[in-house]
Amino acid sequence: MNNVSIEGISSQPKDSLDEFGLISKFFVHYPKATKSWRSQGVGDDCAFLEIGSTRIAVTADMMSIGTHFLENADPFYVGRKVLAVNLSDLAAAGAEPEAFFLSIALPKVDEKWLARFSSGLKQISEEFDCPLRGGDTTKAASVEGRPGKTVFSVCALGSLPSGKGLTRKGAQVDDDIWVTGSPGDAFAALGAEWGYWNLTPNQKKYFASRMNDPTPRIHLGRDLLDVATSCCDISDGLAGDLKHILARSMVSAELFYSDFPRSLYMKELDERVQRRCILNGGDDYELIFTAPPGSRNLVIEIGKKNNCPVTRIGKIVSKEIPFSVKDRLGSPINCGESFNHFS
Ligand code: ADP
Ligand code: MG
Repeated sequence: MNNVSIEGISSQPKDSLDEFGLISKFFVHYPKATKSWRSQGVGDDCAFLEIGSTRIAVTADMMSIGTHFLENADPFYVGRKVLAVNLSDLAAAGAEPEAFFLSIALPKVDEKWLARFSSGLKQISEEFDCPLRGGDTTKAASVEGRPGKTVFSVCALGSLPSGKGLTRKGAQVDDDIWVTGSPGDAFAALGAEWGYWNLTPNQKKYFASRMNDPTPRIHLGRDLLDVATSCCDISDGLAGDLKHILARSMVSAELFYSDFPRSLYMKELDERVQRRCILNGGDDYELIFTAPPGSRNLVIEIGKKNNCPVTRIGKIVSKEIPFSVKDRLGSPINCGESFNHFS
C-alpha cells in the first residue's frame, strides 16, 4: 500500500508535544481511590461516572470559529454541529442523551447570528431529546486590536444501563472491524475549501452537507451496547481513531482497504484524494467499532434497522504491541497522519 499523504497535506516532523502527548503528560491525573464516584479514567469518548448503581456518560468538546468552522459558516449549522459532535461521543459510548451545557465566548453581540445559531442548536437538541440545562456566556477579548474568536464548549451527559457502556478498550483478536456511513466525505469538502482539490458543484453540495451537518449515530450506538466489544467515533480521521482503539485494547489490525465504503461522489475523485480523505479525513462523526465474527448478521440487522450503512473493513489480528495496521496480504499500511491539534 502506498503512502497516502499527498503534497502539502502530510504533517511535518514533530518537535514538540502533539495533542495526545500533551493530554497524557499534563491532564491524566490519578485521583485517590477514596471518591465514591468511580470512573474508568481519561482516554475514551465518554467518561463513565458510577454514582451508586447509576452510570452516567459524560463528554466535553470545544470548538471555535476559525479552527473548527470556516469564518463564514452558516450559524444555523454551527449550532447543530456544536451539539452533534458531543452527541456523537455519547453514541460511541452507547449512551442515551439526557442533557447538555453550553459555554460560549463571543467577540460581540450579533443578534442575527445568535438567532440562527440558537435555532440550529434548538433543532438538534429536540431531534435527539437532549435539553440544554445551563452553561456560561462571556466576551471574547480582542487581541492586538483584532476581534476575539467565537468559542463554544459543550458538555453533554447521557444515561447507560447499569454496568454497560462502550469504550475504546475491549477489542479482541479475531473481532471484525466495522464502520458506519462513508468516512472521508467531510474532509473532501474541507480539502476543497483549502484549495487542495477541485469539486464539481454537485460534489461540493454533497460533501459540504456531510461536513456541516454530521449525523450522530445515537440509536445505532445504543443497539451496539450488547454487541460491540469496542467503539470510537471518527472525529480526527478513520486511521487515527482506529489507532485509539488499537492502543487502548493493545491489539493490531488488518484493514481491507478495497472494501472501505465510499459514497458515490467519493468514487468520482482521484484515488490519491480518496485515500487521503477516507483514511485521514476528520469530522465524519461516524462510528468505528469491533464485534465478534459470530455477530455479523446482527450488526447488519442493526444497521438496517437504523437506516445506517455498516461495512466490515478489517479485523483484529494479534496482541502485538506496538500495534500495526496491515492489508489483506500482510503488507503494512502507511495510514498517514490523522488530524491532531499541535502537530
Ligand atoms: P474525543 O475526540 O472523543 O473528544 P479525544 O480523542 O479528543 O476525544 O480525547 C482523548 C481523551 O482525552 C478523551 O478521553 C478526552 O476526554 C481526554 N481529554 C482531552 N483533553 C483533555 C483535558 N484537557 N483534560 C483531561 N482530559 C482530556
Ligand atoms: Mg470522540
